[in-house]
Amino acid sequence: MKAPVNPGLYRKLPSVDELLRVPELAPSIAQAGQEAVAEAIRAVLLRLRDEISAGQLDESGVELALSGITAAVERQLRQALSYSLRSVINATGVILHTNIGRAPVAAAALDHIREIGGAYSNLEFDTADGERGQRDIHVDRLFRKLLSDRVGPGIRRIPTQTIPAQSGTTQTRVSTIVVNNNAAAVLLALNTLGEGGEVIVSRGELIEIGESFRIPDILAKSNALLREVGTTNRTRVSDYERAITENTRVLLRVHRSNFQITGFTEQPRLEELAALARKHHLPLVEDLGSGSLFDLASVGVSGEPSVLDSLRAGVDVVTYSGDKLLGGPQAGMLSGRNDLIGRMRANALFRALRVDKLTYAALEATLLVYVKQDHDSIPAVRMMRLTKEDIGRRAEALARKIRASPFGRSAGVPPATVSSRRLSVEIVDGESVIGGGAAPSAVLPTRLLALSCDGLSADELAKNLRLSDPPVIARVEEGRVLIDLRTVFPQQDEIVAQICARL
Ligand SMILES: *Cc1c(COP(=O)(O)O)cnc(C)c1O
Repeated sequence: MKAPVNPGLYRKLPSVDELLRVPELAPSIAQAGQEAVAEAIRAVLLRLRDEISAGQLDESGVELALSGITAAVERQLRQALSYSLRSVINATGVILHTNIGRAPVAAAALDHIREIGGAYSNLEFDTADGERGQRDIHVDRLFRKLLSDRVGPGIRRIPTQTIPAQSGTTQTRVSTIVVNNNAAAVLLALNTLGEGGEVIVSRGELIEIGESFRIPDILAKSNALLREVGTTNRTRVSDYERAITENTRVLLRVHRSNFQITGFTEQPRLEELAALARKHHLPLVEDLGSGSLFDLASVGVSGEPSVLDSLRAGVDVVTYSGDKLLGGPQAGMLSGRNDLIGRMRANALFRALRVDKLTYAALEATLLVYVKQDHDSIPAVRMMRLTKEDIGRRAEALARKIRASPFGRSAGVPPATVSSRRLSVEIVDGESVIGGGAAPSAVLPTRLLALSCDGLSADELAKNLRLSDPPVIARVEEGRVLIDLRTVFPQQDEIVAQICARL
């Protein structure tokens, strides 16, 4: 049982007005204003009252707290006036980590955001004729270069009677529009093409991505009826074909982004589904998820189709994220047949889901980097291309720095096993993960710094890293803290070394 609280303790607390008159707080009042300081004082006093009523402070505890109360008010004030959103160092080796912001954007994207965001722009204005323009043309021209110019004859012609194209002609050009994220892109595609009808999906693809994206829910919100076919592990083209009726509006394929089905499995190839869609004059929509614009095979990851692969296989509309493998800002792209994309642009939902000039600026700059084939300027792509040797060299340099720090004591210890006062550092082989719903099983070989500390569990050590400034986010495995420099920017190596040395 808790001892009853002594009511005299509350009376020891000063009032807000008394504290506002304390000379030590005068500079804070001059700088931040009386109201802000009063608010900080109220927050500190409230915390003390809570601690007293929780029985955490006795008489001497209250005395101690009061002796440091102006410092506590100043801390509270600083916190209230500083950003809550701040950068962290990603030492997890997960390149596209949703909880810490997915893809960092390219420097060119930041420059373009600054230029466009801080001024007026031709976002929806045609400077040649002074008329209203369309905001998507700025990126559509680049997507065309990156997608359709090289698609060539691979993209199939759609019979005109399929879905009445607005222009009434057969279109094979690829257009792209942009919405808030890929979830919004799927919603827009299914609502535009599937509303009031049925959308056929394999049971093996009724996925959930992260917290709140579930294909059945998105379909319901699209006002389309889900028609499940096949089984969890096996679905054949004939399953789709049998389910097609006059109510069918769309064949939907969903990329299994964050899991794998192995063993006794079967899934039709995209080309087969495209042929079926063509035969029945239905559009084939693919939720590709990650949507890379470069060939992942070049970094040793196989089986992850690019946007271009999907279009070449005959998908009519492919949806994908801007901040996954593309390495740009949060956005959702719909790329595909001109006539279908035109219908999506005309849907009122498109207006509700549209993105702002900052996103267009970041996206345009990112796409231009791809057009120039300057892939290493896109942080996520550069990280994927780092070799195990590159990372190993940096890890060893970092281990040497920790050893040379004032806490280090070991001379002549080989760089791979370094111990400072309590911290031991080892360099081991390991694997980085692409993450963000791309190639669930794909890993990239890396070299890791493995940290352990006498008297501290790995979880405690990882917590200390998270509480450092800037926070360092690491992985914990088998009782050790693992630091993967693949996702650490090289200019952050020094900071990580200092933080580790101080642990
Ligand atoms: C990531 C992902 C989504 C959600 O994309 P957001 O851009 O996060 O909205 C949807 N479908 C698939 C297959 C995904 O991988």
